[in-house]
Amino acid sequence: MIRKLISRVLGRNKNQKATPSQALIATASHGIRRNHISPGSRRVCEALQEHGHKAYIVGGAVRDLMIGQQPKDFDVATDATPEQIRRCFRRSRIIGRRFQIVHVYQGQEVVEVTTFRGDLGSNAKTDVHGRVLHDNVFGSQAEDATRRDFTVNALYFDPTTETIIDYHHGVADIKQRTLRVIGDPKKRYREDPVRMLRAVRLAAKLGLIIDPAAREPIRTMAGLLENVPAARLFDEMLKLLTSGHALNCLLQLREEGLHHGLLPLLDVIFEQPLGEKFVMLALENTDRRVRCGKPVSPAFLFATLLWHQVLAQREKHQSGGEHPIPALHLAMDEVLDSQAEKLAITRRIAGDIKEIWALQPRLEQRSGKRPYAVLENPRFRAGYDFLLLRAEAGEIDNELGAWWTEFQQADGERRATMLLPAEKPARKRRRRKPRHTTAGETAVAE
Ligand code: ATP
Ligand code: MG
Repeated sequence: MIRKLISRVLGRNKNQKATPSQALIATASHGIRRNHISPGSRRVCEALQEHGHKAYIVGGAVRDLMIGQQPKDFDVATDATPEQIRRCFRRSRIIGRRFQIVHVYQGQEVVEVTTFRGDLGSNAKTDVHGRVLHDNVFGSQAEDATRRDFTVNALYFDPTTETIIDYHHGVADIKQRTLRVIGDPKKRYREDPVRMLRAVRLAAKLGLIIDPAAREPIRTMAGLLENVPAARLFDEMLKLLTSGHALNCLLQLREEGLHHGLLPLLDVIFEQPLGEKFVMLALENTDRRVRCGKPVSPAFLFATLLWHQVLAQREKHQSGGEHPIPALHLAMDEVLDSQAEKLAITRRIAGDIKEIWALQPRLEQRSGKRPYAVLENPRFRAGYDFLLLRAEAGEIDNELGAWWTEFQQADGERRATMLLPAEKPARKRRRRKPRHTTAGETAVAE
């Protein structure tokens, strides 16, 4: 007890290389049983232990189970090296170049097994702002715990003994519903600014309060996110938006002043009365889907977040004399380009986003053969859902959405009666004359 106390005190001495004391927490205090974890990850731990290694379920899974949420995956941490891990399992593969991890296949399950990572010490290679550029040294279990981001993420569950090893009071923090950074928050954010985003996401997802010491520096350090590679930001934003708590996360990000560097246009969106309602509805809708276990499409999400920017840009081009459709396409490209600098929206997703947007005016045409062609479009469903959201937000008339709902379900005969008369015979239409609105766009312009 006294030894523990002394080492804890030493652990908090900044000049001392901390070796945190470990607490062994029994099932009675944490409630996790071995049958709560996936069979694959349990077998992996047992096999590694039979070969004389340490092996634990670690990170998000232990935290989620303690909080009473279903974990997304069960990761294993061990003192075995990737080569040693591979030798224990016939069906396994080393992946990653710089920091190798091993994928172990157990039936349908793929278990990610990671060797304990070490303390980089003062030799860590960083960029000019202090962001650590590599993280590929093996180390002890205590070091592995210390380099994790939050105390609640540094818990190691041993399925054999059903105990938790806790170096940083993570169990107590979970019980007190607190998200606390391991070490000095400012230093940890400088090493990896993405941790600020993770703090907001995990707090929203888990219903935890961010400890004031971890919360306070976020506002002033948010700018560091600008140096994070765009692809990493994109991954993190996607995690945030598909967490089932996107709305809360974004509201919290705005409160912390964190959204500026992320979605440069989000401030503007939030400030537009119509845009704000649309974004809120879209996020609520996504959160609902995630919580019922339905898939969400990243393209759909980004399409909703950026839509009001597209509308504003389109309006600009149209008032400059551009026709509605080319104006829409110009606006789409501009908005996606402006995001590309900060968020590496992948090409494929950008293509899908454009298709959803481009379908909007097409869904407004309800005469002749056009509705049949739109129905055949592979992105129809997403385009239609998007249309319903626009209607719900009050951007367009509900009637159009209802029309499509019925048209999809109707039989051939009913469909034919639903078609609207063509506005003008195509032959007589003067094609190049500037038009400000089409039939369906009237509502948009209102
Ligand atoms: P999720 O519920 O999204 O999976 P998670 O905490 O499990 O949340 P992962 O990205 O799966 O997040 O990371 C697994 C573990 O790796 C974390 O629990 C944490 O211990 C550690 N970790 C992840 N990202 C960082 C980081 N940026 N800095 C330090 N440790 C990290
Ligand atoms: Mg995880």
